[in-house]
Amino acid sequence: MYLLPQKRRFYRFLRSLHHQNLGNNSQKAFCRNFSSSAKPVDKLLFTPGPLTTSYTVKAAALHDYGSRDQKFMDVISEVKSGLLSLANVSDSDFACVLMQGSGTYSVESMLTSVVPRNGCVLLLINGAYGHRAAKILKYAGIDFEVLVFPENEIPNLDMIDQTLKSTPKITDVFVVHSETTSGIINPIDKIGKVVKKHSKTYLIDAMSSFGAINIDFQRANIDYLVSSANKCIEGIPGFAFCIARKEVFKLSEGNARSFSLDLFDQDSASNKTGQFRFTPPTHALLAFRQALKEIKAEGGVEGRFSRYKENRDLCISRMKEIGFEPYLDADDESSGCIITSFRYPKSENWNFQSFYEKLSEQNMLIYPGKVSNADCFRIGHIGRITPNDTAKLLDTIEDISLSMKLFN
Ligand SMILES: *Cc1c(COP(=O)(O)O)cnc(C)c1O
Repeated sequence: MYLLPQKRRFYRFLRSLHHQNLGNNSQKAFCRNFSSSAKPVDKLLFTPGPLTTSYTVKAAALHDYGSRDQKFMDVISEVKSGLLSLANVSDSDFACVLMQGSGTYSVESMLTSVVPRNGCVLLLINGAYGHRAAKILKYAGIDFEVLVFPENEIPNLDMIDQTLKSTPKITDVFVVHSETTSGIINPIDKIGKVVKKHSKTYLIDAMSSFGAINIDFQRANIDYLVSSANKCIEGIPGFAFCIARKEVFKLSEGNARSFSLDLFDQDSASNKTGQFRFTPPTHALLAFRQALKEIKAEGGVEGRFSRYKENRDLCISRMKEIGFEPYLDADDESSGCIITSFRYPKSENWNFQSFYEKLSEQNMLIYPGKVSNADCFRIGHIGRITPNDTAKLLDTIEDISLSMKLFN
């Protein structure tokens, strides 16, 4: 059939709409007729987020809900209780506070809301996200101390113990669980024991681990934990959340240094009215409710962990075969299954930008490195990515490595 160019563009536009769940049946049938494929054509994201999400999660967002409507308030309450149950904590002991924005907004909300007015935070830093927390505190004028560790090592427990003993002004301890910079997993249980011994408040950035790595709030003595909608729970970006121990949280009223990021006020308003204080990301919450159903269907945290671990194991073994070297010792238990940093090959033919672009041409996106003392790039194992997708990525990396003559 011959079509005028404008018409062809129009039909291409309709095809692009196909994987959106358009309202009525005649529209759906119309789009089906003009679609060659039911699959979205987006590139696969082997990144730390935003991530590849399922079609059904994206489709769940295709509604306009009123922010003060009961139907939407039900979504909020379902999401909050779904998160507490995923965290395996009870709502009599813990609160779940949803906060607009990306993950950093919730880290900032936690740090600037819960630290006492004259408090001081000990930051345990072994990557860029730990340094980001220091920046947040500096902006807010909140006192802090740092213990900086090499990016390929977990924090030293004796040093934490010594510092807490010798610096009584410290009120809170902050650590990143999965340092997405390198992919290292910090031992929040062991650190929590030391924090508890000194009766400090314990704050966790579990952005890239919550939902995929089992976290025992009681054993780790966690008081506050933040994570985001668009990481291991595989929702779309738009909000993040904090899970807070109520007996500690209730003492934080009036501590906030920011109005819009006031965690305590956000929680009290939500409990009083069932609503957000300010415009909520309605579509992202609808998508997230679906994402919670899908993680449950996959077997919860254990189920998700096992798929990510399969992706990770396959990725590391094939990358090593090809000739790449992981930044962290892959046999060490702290090396994690969320994201892997690989060192740049030593070859003079290496060029990250062209390697990246060749993969992108094949519809796969990887991520630049972030560790400060080595040239690396990163491959993520999270999001709606299967071991099959990972195998495809590695086949392509192998072909590209041959064509670029990276390894002799
Ligand atoms: C992704 C991430 C964040 C938040 O980043 P945003 O870009 O603000 O979503 C914070 N901490 C860690 C460890 C992360 O992986």
